[in-house]
Amino acid sequence: MTQQTQATGTAVVIGASMAGLLATRVLSDFYDTVVIVERDALPASPEARKGVPQARHAHALLGHGQQVLEELFPGFAEQLQEQGALLGKGRMFSGGGYLARVADAPCSLYASRPFLEHAVRERVRALPNVSILEQIDVRDLAVDASRARVEGVRVRTRGDDAAERVIAANLVVDASGRGSRTPAWLAALGYPEPVEELVEVNMAYTTRIFRRRPDDLGGDLLVNIAPTPNLTRASAMLALEGDRWLVTVAGYFGDAPPTDDAGFLEFTRSLPAQEIYEMVRNAEPLTEPVTYRFRANQWRHYERLERFPDGFLVIGDAICSFTPIYGQGMTVAALESLALRDCLTQGTDRLAQRFFKRAAKVIAIPWSITVGNDRKLSPATAPRDPFNRALGWYLARFLVAARTDATLAGAFMRVGNLFDPPTALLRPSLALRVLRGGRTSAPHQPEPVAHHEQERQAAQI
Ligand SMILES: Cc1cc2nc3c(=O)[nH]c(=O)nc-3n(C[C@H](O)[C@H](O)[C@H](O)COP(=O)(O)OP(=O)(O)OC[C@H]3O[C@@H](n4cnc5c(N)ncnc54)[C@H](O)[C@@H]3O)c2cc1C
Repeated sequence: MTQQTQATGTAVVIGASMAGLLATRVLSDFYDTVVIVERDALPASPEARKGVPQARHAHALLGHGQQVLEELFPGFAEQLQEQGALLGKGRMFSGGGYLARVADAPCSLYASRPFLEHAVRERVRALPNVSILEQIDVRDLAVDASRARVEGVRVRTRGDDAAERVIAANLVVDASGRGSRTPAWLAALGYPEPVEELVEVNMAYTTRIFRRRPDDLGGDLLVNIAPTPNLTRASAMLALEGDRWLVTVAGYFGDAPPTDDAGFLEFTRSLPAQEIYEMVRNAEPLTEPVTYRFRANQWRHYERLERFPDGFLVIGDAICSFTPIYGQGMTVAALESLALRDCLTQGTDRLAQRFFKRAAKVIAIPWSITVGNDRKLSPATAPRDPFNRALGWYLARFLVAARTDATLAGAFMRVGNLFDPPTALLRPSLALRVLRGGRTSAPHQPEPVAHHEQERQAAQI
């Protein structure tokens, strides 16, 4: 067996958002020094910032992501709770009804995205061999004469006319998000660009924060309403630190939720369950509505490239970003950071190639969930072959049965939380329960107020 080169020296990470912070946590176990270079000024308290505009909208941390964060930062959930995050359960409305309550399912952490990011950032900042450079823009890669190896990044301090300077590195990790310039940097260096797979959704989000009373929703902390082909709208209302509800409403295919009071309220009324509408109608708004546009699922297939410079890799949304309503991005970034740790344990030879292959495996399942669902939402893209039609029929039946069968609801939630692949739903023991129409093994979730008849009928098909 050939001897692998071990990591040493300095790693530079571009971007101090979730993927950059989690990668840094892993890199700090292998490199002498890790330097994060971030173009924003980072707030001292949990606040949204320019470089992460999505932070103003609903951010759920999936169960598997929560587990990885706990592994990387022992005591993380407890720390967050002490600082004001909430731990509890939610209501999932999918396929025309609420999933049954799963008594033994683990609780989820609820907090705003700036709160979560701030907590992770402070844990990373406390690592002795990590430093964070703020308000510094990475403009380009610095490479050796043969252009075979990345040797650092070219940076410029924001608002400063000074010339570019180079921060030297043994490894550069691009965690600069969906707008990453790596494809352009590769092209300029004479490398092939990754194939970019796009699945258009043309989604628009509107979000507003309201005051929350502790007995709202009987103490539940989330209402999540998934879209269906009959109503390609989605919504999440989740509890935040500081006695607040955050309500995000979203429409597919250009169906932008309004930002005026009446229009926003009417949009929530159009949803198939009315808890969110009732809350918006009655609760005190604490912010003005904010919007966000998301054009397409985007996967840059770095794992397919035959040539890639040494000393460099890409992670997080810079590889793949998903329709946000499935809440996968931070969890995928967390799982990729574990994949990076596994790759580094085996040394640094062909690190990028090995990492990209591992990352592609991490991405494949959430991508299949998101893109599979998104494609079904439009008649133009819904798969019509007999196999997919049969799967669609099965899943619709599954969701109807899961309204009263906690075993089915639990299995569905494990897939949604990225613990299990969707194929887990086809297990014979579950299929039998589905075909029998589900077993009443759980109390019903509350019937949604003014449940839309059209939705109910759609789910029965
Ligand atoms: C509306 C919306 C809702 C979402 N909801 C959820 C959810 O519920 N759950 C979930 O898990 N995920 C969600 N996501 C996805 C999640 O936000 C991302 O997956 C997550 O932030 C990881 O992204 P990232 O760190 O790779 O990139 P980003 O979060 O985009 O961060 C990139 C960072 O790089 C910095 N940067 C960029 N360029 C440079 C440069 N040249 N030099 C220096 N710094 C640079 C930026 O300032 C920023 O700090 C949502 C996304 C959107 C759009």
